[in-house]
Amino acid sequence: MSIGYFDVAGPGRSTRFLQEHLPDTPPISLHIHSGSRETVVDADPASLNILAIHAHPDDIEIQCAGTLLKLKQLGCCVSVATMTPGDKGSDELSAEEISNVRRAEAAASAAMMDVDYSCLEFRDLSIIFDNDSRRRMAEFLRRKHPDIIFAPPPVDYMHDHEITSQLVRDACFNAAVPNYRTQQWDPAPHCTKIPHLYYVDAVEGTDHFGMRHPVDMIVDVSDVIEKRLELLTCHASQRNWLQRQHGIDEYINASRRWAARRGKEIGAEYGEGFRQYKGHPHPTENLLGKILEIQ
Ligand SMILES: [Zn+2]
Repeated sequence: MSIGYFDVAGPGRSTRFLQEHLPDTPPISLHIHSGSRETVVDADPASLNILAIHAHPDDIEIQCAGTLLKLKQLGCCVSVATMTPGDKGSDELSAEEISNVRRAEAAASAAMMDVDYSCLEFRDLSIIFDNDSRRRMAEFLRRKHPDIIFAPPPVDYMHDHEITSQLVRDACFNAAVPNYRTQQWDPAPHCTKIPHLYYVDAVEGTDHFGMRHPVDMIVDVSDVIEKRLELLTCHASQRNWLQRQHGIDEYINASRRWAARRGKEIGAEYGEGFRQYKGHPHPTENLLGKILEIQ
C-alpha cells in the first residue's frame, strides 16, 4: 500500500486529503436508478445545487458563466471547480508562481459571481483517467452532491478537456455507489442520486474536423454577456498573454464572437450551447431547460 496526498484549494482555504492506494476490488454488475429518468419533477430553483467543473481556470467563464449567472439570479446554489490551477499557462512565471496567480484569478471571478470555487489540483497536460483520478473526482462530487452538473464535452480541442469530461461522467455514477471507496481522508457519504449532466460547448463551437459541435439547447445569455466578459477580465494573466501574442484583446473578443455565433442560431444576440447526457442511469428530463423556461 502506498500513500499520497492532494490538496483541494478554495478561496482562503486549502484542505489536505489522504489518498491511499489499495488493491482494486473485482468489478461487479451494477444498476443504479435515479428514480426519475423521464418524469419531469417540479423543481424549486432555490433547492438546487449546481456544479460546473472544467479543466482550467477561465474555461467556465468562456463556456457557461452566462448560464451560471442566470441560475444564480434564480436562487440556485452554484459552485465552480477547475481541475488544475493553470500551472502551464505562462511563458514567464514558474509553474508554482503562475498557479498561485491563476488560483487567485479564478477565486476573484467566482467571488464576482458570488459562488464557491475549488481546484482539484490536477496539473495541466497531465490529467489522466486512472483510479486515483476517479476516486478524487467521486469524492469531490460526494462533497458537493449536485443536482445539475456541467462538464466539458467528450470531444474538444485538447486532452485535459476530454479526460475531465470522462472523469465527471464516471464519477456521477461511482459517487452514488455505497461500496465505492474514494480512499480520501474523512470521506463524504455517498450520493443518493445521479445528477442531471450537461456538457458545455466545445472551444470555438467546433469538433476535431472543424464541423459545428452538436448542442441540443442554447441558453440566451444576451442580458448577462457583459457581466460574463467582466468575469473573464479577472483572468488577467491569460488576457495579457494573448494580448502580447495577438496584439489585440483576442481573449475577450473571441469569447464574445463565439457566444454571438451560438446566439444567432436561436435568433438571440448571445448564447451558450449545451448537450444533455441521457444515457443510463442519468435522469433524462431537461431540468436545466425547465428552470430557465426554455423547453
Ligand atoms: Zn481549458
